[in-house]
Amino acid sequence: MINDTMYARGAESSVIREIFTYANERKAQIGAENVFDFSLGNPSVPAPDEVRQSIERSLKLLPEQVHGYTPAPGAPEVRTAVAESLNRRFGTNYTMADVFMTVGAAASVSCTLGAVTCPGDEVIVIAPYFPEYRVWIETAGAVCIEVLADQETFQVDPEAVAAAITDRTAAVIIDSPNNPTGAVYTRESLEKLVDVLERANAEREARLGHPQPIVLISDEPYREITYGAEVPWVPSLYEHTVVCYSYSKSLSLPGERVGWVLVPQVSEGARRVMTAVAGTARSLGFVCAPSLFQRVVMDCVDVPSDVAAYARNRDLLTQALSQMGYTYVEPGGAFYLWVRALEPDAEAFCERARVYELLPVPSNSFGVEGWVRVGYCVAPEVIERSLPAWKRLAEDYGL
Ligand code: PLP
Repeated sequence: MINDTMYARGAESSVIREIFTYANERKAQIGAENVFDFSLGNPSVPAPDEVRQSIERSLKLLPEQVHGYTPAPGAPEVRTAVAESLNRRFGTNYTMADVFMTVGAAASVSCTLGAVTCPGDEVIVIAPYFPEYRVWIETAGAVCIEVLADQETFQVDPEAVAAAITDRTAAVIIDSPNNPTGAVYTRESLEKLVDVLERANAEREARLGHPQPIVLISDEPYREITYGAEVPWVPSLYEHTVVCYSYSKSLSLPGERVGWVLVPQVSEGARRVMTAVAGTARSLGFVCAPSLFQRVVMDCVDVPSDVAAYARNRDLLTQALSQMGYTYVEPGGAFYLWVRALEPDAEAFCERARVYELLPVPSNSFGVEGWVRVGYCVAPEVIERSLPAWKRLAEDYGL
């Protein structure tokens, strides 16, 4: 027997990965230099040299120190290093008890969802949203509720969130700097969101006679990748925040699968959430994040991300596309450009783009119509070589 839901998930795969696979096939057929793959968020910037140095140091240790299991939540010295780094940056006083090491942000969010939802609960996502959220929410037995972002600024729309909250709302997921729009949520819009959540919590407590706060899951794999915008520290604005992080983007280590969940241990409720995060990790079989890369995290916790290359790509792409007549959201962070499709049907627009070997991702995968995501974490030559193709595509639509 086969589980039909899991079969369907495996068979449909993710649209982003499908495009990536198609790109590789086309590269084999017509040469890599003729295909413009803007699908996957795979950083082209190499991991910093400190990562290599850390690995070389670790490999001189005893094998069991490097390759053995760590405790399920991660090695104590690694969790302490993460907590102390956050304390230096955000003036907090976290300890290792607040940090649970994971197999990347995918595991961080999955473990958090498993911890804070019961079957039938609702989790609000801000559309357009990272498509795997729906998969992870439904795997936890919860229901994914889409709430549109502000359609001008792509900031979270607090009133729209307020209108979607019900007695079953267990959590809201935010993702800033945002994949796919590149928007960075301002302090002001986060404060308004927090007001909405606190009002809902107070009304709920008055009705139920006991607190049952909505958890704010702040998924932050792009925290370090910004072009000058402030990325407020969400737990300092809202007590019931769980931060999900990974080093996939900041240290260019997506294939090494390492990240963390932070649950500030400020109350008995928060301690229970952390225990449930550990329980979910155990249930899913994510027993210990890769030991070697936990050591890399310990050594590189304060190494800055190389944002300059993404900034150059962003400028190159946005200047060229705006001259051609495309419109897009000015990205404040991450490495995605959210471009208006030149016809209402984004999938049809992407089909047309394929004629020129241009491979963006249609917005339908992110829960909205009429846009495409262009991942500019590619080598700059890919962008340069793609510009004539973007121009011909624009001309097809009479621009
Ligand atoms: N969350 C968001 C918003 C992402 O864009 C990604 C990856 O692209 C993830 C989570 C998953 O990150 P990881 O590869 O660290 O599991």
